[in-house]
Amino acid sequence: MYGVALTDKQTLEYQEREIPKISDNDVLLKVHAIGVCGSDLRIYQNGDSRVEYPRVIGHEIAGEIVEIGKNVQRFSIGDRVTLGAHIPCGECLYCQKNQGHQCVKGETIGYQIDGGFAEYVALPKEFVEYGSIQKISDATSYELASLSEPFSCVLSGLREVGIEAGDTVVVYGAGTIGCMYIAAAKRMGASKIIAVQRSEARQIKAKEIGADIVIDPSKSDTLSIVNEETNGFGADVVIVTAPAASVQKESLEVAKKTGSVLFFAGIKPVQEVPLNTNHIIYKQLKVVGTHGAPRDLHMEAVKWIDEGLIDFSFFVTHTFPLKGTEKAFQTVIRKEGLKCVVKPTEARI
Ligand SMILES: [Zn+2]
Ligand SMILES: [Zn+2]
Repeated sequence: MYGVALTDKQTLEYQEREIPKISDNDVLLKVHAIGVCGSDLRIYQNGDSRVEYPRVIGHEIAGEIVEIGKNVQRFSIGDRVTLGAHIPCGECLYCQKNQGHQCVKGETIGYQIDGGFAEYVALPKEFVEYGSIQKISDATSYELASLSEPFSCVLSGLREVGIEAGDTVVVYGAGTIGCMYIAAAKRMGASKIIAVQRSEARQIKAKEIGADIVIDPSKSDTLSIVNEETNGFGADVVIVTAPAASVQKESLEVAKKTGSVLFFAGIKPVQEVPLNTNHIIYKQLKVVGTHGAPRDLHMEAVKWIDEGLIDFSFFVTHTFPLKGTEKAFQTVIRKEGLKCVVKPTEARI
């Protein structure tokens, strides 16, 4: 088979590789679509302590089951599925509480084991038993199904902030994740969505997917616009998808009293952010962070995609053959469009 391995920092090699061999409890998946995630870019650019070279990275995977170990009962050859990213151990405190995304082992597809930028990916026993392998409806394309993993992370954030119909929501950053938040919040009944975004191309995306107001923070003052739009109260929910200290600080100011603030993306490299914690105390804010998603929300994400609850095709702006994986990464680095999806089965066509 062909696969794209990260052989060093910033070095992706398209190479011939062995089709992975599976044991009795494993599953072999033919990868039909794999999305480029922001975290893939960080591994590519800076390396990651969990990733040894050479490694096929990538965890936003949809494909077809082509081989199953003799002990595998829940799946059959030919199943069309999409995957969560985490490999829960199934036994630790977190795994037992439906928090496999916080498993003490912290194993993830495309980090400690080979991921999806390849024609085939092997799913080990723990993943088959405790990870999220969700069947997709016949009408759902693999391309859209590959959005299930990032969208499950969006649903996880929304569950934590407890969004309600009628809420005013501020979303910082209108990349793929920010736009998913805008669309999902709208679908869940938010009455006014304010996006904050510098790049003009992404301002347009935010508008198209449902933002009522788009603020360019290099030209206008976000706090005063949010206040004007909310009769001086501030936003019910503030979602920060742009990993920047200044934005995290400001998010506490634009939230209304008793509002919720979500920090979605981590700041890398690590940086201490001085926050005015009096906002949290006196305004009684709920400030939460989320990372990844538990299995039930991955299941729910697939339901949203199967049922077309929002326009998922909006988010995929570029597709590439497997050979074009490096191009896909460069496209994301240049912040062109939204989600780039690689389609390994079209690799040699
Ligand atoms: Zn991802
Ligand atoms: Zn665990």
